[in-house]
Amino acid sequence: MREDTRRWMAADKRHCWHPFTPQGAWTDGGHDPLVLVRGQGCWLWDSEGRKYFDGNSSIWTNIHGHNHPVLNEALRKQAEQVAHTSYLGFANPRASELAEKLVSFFPEQTLERVFYSDNGSTAVEVAMKMSLQYWMQCGSMKRTRFVAFNNGYHGDTMGAASLGGVSRFFERFRQFGVEVDFVSSIEDLEALDPEHTAAVIIEPLIQGVNEMRPWPCGMLKALRDYCDKAGVHLILDEVMTGFGRTGTMFACEQESVVPDFLCLAKGLTGGYMPMAATLTTREVYEAFLGDAENAFYYGHSYTANPLGCAVALANLGLFESENTLEKLKSKIEALSALLDALEGEKSRVHEVRQCGFIAGIELRQADGLSFPEDNKVGAAVCAEARQHGLLTRPIRDTVVIMPPLCTEPDELEAAFGALGKVL
Ligand code: PLP
Repeated sequence: MREDTRRWMAADKRHCWHPFTPQGAWTDGGHDPLVLVRGQGCWLWDSEGRKYFDGNSSIWTNIHGHNHPVLNEALRKQAEQVAHTSYLGFANPRASELAEKLVSFFPEQTLERVFYSDNGSTAVEVAMKMSLQYWMQCGSMKRTRFVAFNNGYHGDTMGAASLGGVSRFFERFRQFGVEVDFVSSIEDLEALDPEHTAAVIIEPLIQGVNEMRPWPCGMLKALRDYCDKAGVHLILDEVMTGFGRTGTMFACEQESVVPDFLCLAKGLTGGYMPMAATLTTREVYEAFLGDAENAFYYGHSYTANPLGCAVALANLGLFESENTLEKLKSKIEALSALLDALEGEKSRVHEVRQCGFIAGIELRQADGLSFPEDNKVGAAVCAEARQHGLLTRPIRDTVVIMPPLCTEPDELEAAFGALGKVL
């Protein structure tokens, strides 16, 4: 092992604390964490010089590939002007341009205001607080509850976490959060009294952390109709699905739905910088005008960070100059074919699930029963896949394949080749 690797690992084990990680096992003497040092396209290299396919787009963030010259140049150019200025009391050129660009994806007079923050969780917090304050300012003081879907995931800050329907992550904090009614379907929703509901939140088309489970076709449209009838806000959490992952720029386009709040993060900067945006309508925005006490008192120090905005603009520019969505169509077909082959050939593949360029491969025992949880089969498969040059992370026993959109069919085949060997 190289001297640098040894030093970085030792410092990590001594001082760092990783997300969603049982630290006891991580710092165990027998565990050698990968130290990632370089990327190019859909490939990553570790500090020992080994090359890996980035099978989950670096936790669902990367879009056009690592080390992209256009994105690098946008960052460099902006850094030479200024890296950060306060958005509290000041505007900045890239934030203005980015807001104009983001609203241009939606029909006029729908989503026309952009509120910036730092990550997917804060994009959701902003939508929650805006919705609650909107109803207060409209005199509907009773609308203080949210509706969320069982097994949904919306982030880890306290507000966003209270909307989380994955009990193993969120149950212990439930008593500290906002009040939420959890449902599984439109039928469940219709059985609720909407009088106290501020907003309904959903991950459109597919629940990510719920082992990549797509919703039935038409569900999103039905949800929009419900919200219109019940007079409640619809929050779409496109933190995972945004920026081409499902085959269209935004998942909501596929059912011609426009929400009252749209939460974006992860792919907004192509996987380069932590940045988020919450888009909303004129109707919501106008309820915050008037007296100073009606303003939205929320913000972070790095709101509308110019480096983030510059690289987000370049990321959106690449969708046009590289014709990303058009090229993606055949890649989605290639992914389907590879998944079909896996499902047909490997007895431990219980089900494959796909939505655009997102896939979940659920592993079960030969008799169709789930593996005992303690066996951690998904984790073992991903650890073994790493030995064959594929990096990804399972959700329980579902292996996630969500590559950068720049991935070419032969690169995808290489990744599936690695997985095939393990399965
Ligand atoms: N919403 C969804 C649908 C997500 O998948 C995630 C993260 O995976 C989040 C919100 C939280 O985003 P972040 O990790 O950037 O806070």
